Amino acid sequence: MPKKHADLIIENASELATPQSGGQGPLLGKEMQDLTIIKNAALAVKDGAIVEVGKTASVRSAFKAAETIDARGKTVIPGFVDPHTHVVFAGSREREFELRLKGASYMEIHREGGGILKTVRETRQASEDELVRNCKRTLDIMLEYGTTTAEAKSGYGLTVKDEIKCLHVIRQVQEAHAVDLVPTFFGAHAIPLEYERNAEDYVRLVVERMIPSVVNAKLAEFCDVFCEEGAFSLNQAKRILRAGVKHGLKPKLHADELTPFGGAELAAETRAVSAEHLLYASETGLKMMAQRNVIAVLLPAASFTLMTNKYADARKMIELGVPIALGTDLNPSCWVESQQLVIAMACRQLRLTSAEALTASTLNAAHAVNRATEVGSLEKGKKADALILDAPNHSFLGYRFGTNLVSKVIKEGKLAVDLD
Ligand SMILES: [Zn+2]
Repeated sequence: MPKKHADLIIENASELATPQSGGQGPLLGKEMQDLTIIKNAALAVKDGAIVEVGKTASVRSAFKAAETIDARGKTVIPGFVDPHTHVVFAGSREREFELRLKGASYMEIHREGGGILKTVRETRQASEDELVRNCKRTLDIMLEYGTTTAEAKSGYGLTVKDEIKCLHVIRQVQEAHAVDLVPTFFGAHAIPLEYERNAEDYVRLVVERMIPSVVNAKLAEFCDVFCEEGAFSLNQAKRILRAGVKHGLKPKLHADELTPFGGAELAAETRAVSAEHLLYASETGLKMMAQRNVIAVLLPAASFTLMTNKYADARKMIELGVPIALGTDLNPSCWVESQQLVIAMACRQLRLTSAEALTASTLNAAHAVNRATEVGSLEKGKKADALILDAPNHSFLGYRFGTNLVSKVIKEGKLAVDLD
């Protein structure tokens, strides 16, 4: 048989490790552990998509390619999907970090006009161009550490004009940068200072003006709410998410991060695609999430940076059948671009295995941002978003940390990063 043409073949990989899509939804329970592992593996790519995955000898016997990459001694995995970032912002918050080191709490800093509100002031003052430059710089680093798709939230504008500006930044960057972005409207990130005494008026602004304007301009796919004491109540969050759904925005929820607040229950009740953080989620809430297949997006770097030694109970979630994804929560108070560091934390603090953490950072994360038919695993027909790691097997992912294991990043079949 004549060989078929591919554009690129990655061959001789010591290991190729990937979750498999299986059914319709994200992987649950023991499935999270079930990677397909191929030794001496190859991957063939044509027109930006994966056309074959298998042993080097068998891929080689079916395909020839103009370009080959020898991955001897290395591991090939899917590109990471970071399902939770606040990547559009101006300024930084290192002074607040020093205060937190001396014992100030997140909410104390927030009440004094620091925290989110400081970033809101700086983001409002920044031009769209400046925000685009900041965002691209951050994405360059994310890509270098292996993230090929990321969710991106607005949420530091908190006026109609500034929320739209931040979502425009996401659109501009999406068109110009190799990392694919999934836009989330997060106008309900905080109650801005000017509405401090009339939060209800702000909720009305979000529901009646922001959501329709965002949807009219087709600037977002998801709508997120920070449901917490001092932010938005359960009732307010429910109204905002429902208004989003009515306009076609899929719901997400920052839930039970700082206190047990009923967020997990609300995420299930509103049929959110995902609920984020969940440090204090109740067992009832988690069971409801399992029933409705709401993905738990866990953000161990956020716990690490809060310094409260409280992490989400990932083992219980897996046991209850809640699908788990992992994200960075990249934002100016938790400024981390590396999904690899998040995986290392998840292994140690959430007790995920390297295989579970890989599934949570790829296929399940892709489900959390509605991209699982395109990315999140190395399977025929999906986008050729792959990482070549300078490691003999996937266990090195959790095991080594603080360094970048990425040797090459392939984005839609093209060499996007080469650190060899
Ligand atoms: Zn967040």
